[in-house]
Amino acid sequence: MEAGIHRLQIPTPFAVGRVNCYLIEDRPLTLVDTGPNSGKSLDELERQLSALGRSLEEIELVVLTHQHIDHLGLVEIISSRSGAEVAAIDVVVPFLENFGDDVELEDQFAASLMLRHGIPEDVVTALRSVSRSFRAWGARAKVTRPLHDAEELRLHDRALEVQHRPGHSPSDTLFWDSERRILLCADHLIAHISSNPLISRPLDGSKERPRALMMYLESLRRTRELPAQIVLPGHGEPIVDHRALIDERFALHRRRADRILGLISEHPRTAYEIAQELWGNVAVTQAFLTLSEVLGHLDLLIDDGRARETQDGDLVRFGGLE
Ligand SMILES: [Zn+2]
Repeated sequence: MEAGIHRLQIPTPFAVGRVNCYLIEDRPLTLVDTGPNSGKSLDELERQLSALGRSLEEIELVVLTHQHIDHLGLVEIISSRSGAEVAAIDVVVPFLENFGDDVELEDQFAASLMLRHGIPEDVVTALRSVSRSFRAWGARAKVTRPLHDAEELRLHDRALEVQHRPGHSPSDTLFWDSERRILLCADHLIAHISSNPLISRPLDGSKERPRALMMYLESLRRTRELPAQIVLPGHGEPIVDHRALIDERFALHRRRADRILGLISEHPRTAYEIAQELWGNVAVTQAFLTLSEVLGHLDLLIDDGRARETQDGDLVRFGGLE
């Protein structure tokens, strides 16, 4: 593929389908993301590496793009078999090194958020057990090479600028090759689906609900500025016109915010009621995702002075201000 970068499409057990990992033929031999922790993914990774004349043992550096398990689950196996260094953005290091304990805290954070926003208790309980069972596809990682925003990750033949661009997750990290104008962007921008600005427990331990969508849109604005020729995402096909795609995403979020404003202008509603109006009764596994979407757009409306949040006992409702 581009400039010694090969896309490896590794299967996942999740609805999103395969995840893209990238092998960068350089010194050190670098793998960007690993795929989830499963025998099937490992087999596939080894098979695709060997089709390129490489083996897992030869990998010298694993670079992680963010904290989601479909991207990092095999990191422990790869680093222990190859002795590879593991690089990740500094803010996510404690999360990766305490994986398991921190995921439990993450689940507690999500559960109390869901209850406060009107999601029924049985759905919350079901979702927690789903999330527990998903945890096995992740892994603890010892990060030997913490990365810092705006630093240069130097390989022999190229320099990658590290760009911390939170939104889809608090640890989203992009890698920008300004010379070749190639951007590795993981789930920050995906051609065939709009990335979810998932609400996540703040990595700094603060209790406040992060405004994930606002953060995400700000990150997208910065990415839009880059004169990228090709953008290599974490799922699906490479993106050649990232500015047009980002503009589509901006329009989508504006439309969705307007629709939500219409709903809460009729009468105040909980975020869960809004999600039901928009998408009906979604699968249990989608409940947190749709809640994140709704809250993200409510944050935009509140920030614009078009909506307000009111506390009613343990429940939060939102009303329009127009
Ligand atoms: Zn992700």
